[in-house]
Amino acid sequence: MKSTQIRLASRPVAEPLDSDFEVATAELPEPEEGQVVLRTLHLSLDPYMRGRMSDAPSYAAPVGIGEVMVGQTVSEVVASRSERREVGDIVLAYTGWQSHAVVDARATRRLDPSAAPVSTALGVLGMPGFTAYGGLLAIGQPKAGETVVVAAAAGPVGSAVGQIAKAKGARAVGIAGGPEKCRLLLDEYGFDAAVDHRSPTLREDLAAATPDGIDVYFENVGGHVAAEVVRRFNTYARMPVCGLIAGYNGGEPMADFDRLPGFMRRVLTKSLTVRGFIQDEFVPTHWADFQREMSGWVADGTVRYREDVVDSLENAPEAFRGLLAGRNVGKLLVKVADPAGV
Ligand code: NDP
Repeated sequence: MKSTQIRLASRPVAEPLDSDFEVATAELPEPEEGQVVLRTLHLSLDPYMRGRMSDAPSYAAPVGIGEVMVGQTVSEVVASRSERREVGDIVLAYTGWQSHAVVDARATRRLDPSAAPVSTALGVLGMPGFTAYGGLLAIGQPKAGETVVVAAAAGPVGSAVGQIAKAKGARAVGIAGGPEKCRLLLDEYGFDAAVDHRSPTLREDLAAATPDGIDVYFENVGGHVAAEVVRRFNTYARMPVCGLIAGYNGGEPMADFDRLPGFMRRVLTKSLTVRGFIQDEFVPTHWADFQREMSGWVADGTVRYREDVVDSLENAPEAFRGLLAGRNVGKLLVKVADPAGV
């Protein structure tokens, strides 16, 4: 069995270039007892992968030069030497940017295609949805009537944050890049207000959208957006720090969120709670509730989602660049193959 792989060829300095990736073919080993052979159906592309391309110290080890890019996948079992999985099972796995893989069956989770489209295990019912749920409820703790602001609001984390905030009775304000995404926030996701972060009147627009100030800011981006949001914090506001994507390719010139003395003065005078997190810390405390509550919300339409699906593994690098630049609308997935029989 051969696997088409996309490997890290060199570490990007700013935006990842084509030359930072290489396409290669590898011969897979025969599966051992307890292992399964997987065929990738969907590959999830996520902002954290930019961090793995760098060897700067982080919460997770970098991808080595010449190694397959990491990533979560929805895959089909095509051969099994484990009692846990049968040929034809659809599973969640962490096999990365490649067409096939041989892994321990215990490193996979079986998905039920009749419960929800299997691709949702990579989005609204998976890691991004859980990031929104855990970070917002554990740290943001929105109360009815409070104002919750989130940027990258049209993406899988941000759109879920806004809709969960609404489900908890809060007012949701989304910040996104461009009029198309802002319309989506209002018309499809039910945000109370939408602000375009590319507008030259961002400060005034944000003030108009948050007349009662901001009680929770779910931080996804940093950069010029965060610099404006912190000006409108209410006393005792909470700021779950989830991501800082504006800086992942090296930062926005002249607009980095580097105004530390001013920010710290606000932390003091407004009694702010600022708390970073990596989503898996909430698995023991929030995963079961997330599964139950979010599945219910998705089934009854309380929480909606979008997927932005790109065809073919070879297009993953270009799609990934687009993710970092905001060209995706919804959860970015690469469709690598159809399940057998389709
Ligand atoms: P998205 O699909 O929302 O993609 C990222 C979006 O970020 C882009 O579409 C773009 O939207 C926005 N963006 C990019 N650059 C800027 C900028 N300079 N200023 C403002 N917005 C920008 O990604 P996700 O929903 O998957 O992830 C959102 C955030 O959550 C990321 O920061 C990610 O790293 C973080 N995250 C953190 C986790 C954790 O455990 N802490 C887990 C999962 C995600 P637009 O066009 O609207 O600008």
